[in-house]
Amino acid sequence: MISNRTFTMLKPDAVENGHIGAILEKITSAGFKIVAMKYTQLSRRDAQEFYAIHKERPFFGELVNFMTRGPIVSAILEKENAVEDFRALIGATNPAEAAEGTIRKLYATDIAENAVHGSDSDENAAMESAFHFSGREIY
Ligand code: GDP
Ligand code: MG
Repeated sequence: MISNRTFTMLKPDAVENGHIGAILEKITSAGFKIVAMKYTQLSRRDAQEFYAIHKERPFFGELVNFMTRGPIVSAILEKENAVEDFRALIGATNPAEAAEGTIRKLYATDIAENAVHGSDSDENAAMESAFHFSGREIY
């Protein structure tokens, strides 16, 4: 298991609102190194598969609509203790509950449109990275 890597997406709201540059600056300033990155748009099938763990939740349809409505930036980030440190950097799922200075506090709209994704375990980081990137796209 690669414990020094995590996976992120800058979600459609962050892209629409012009926050790509500011969020990447927060990420790199916090010591994360970008080892893979792409600008892409998820298909409905991609989003349903990526968020399959939430398929029974009442917001699943809304989540798929949101995540497919425009382009995203996806990336693999490297840093010691990457998963945990990145979750701390992005803040709570609901920006109203996120700590001051976190990416979601600064750039999220609400619990649904919360600007960024961050893997929640080393195992999911590896799975999510493999979902978005081939080995040849990681540097
Ligand atoms: P995360 O790990 O902090 O991203 O949060 P979760 O794994 O609980 O949820 C995944 C994503 O689903 C969140 O980042 C939100 O984009 C979305 N989401 C979570 N809760 C809600 C909700 O109550 N309503 C809606 N519409 N979306 C939600
Ligand atoms: Mg989650």
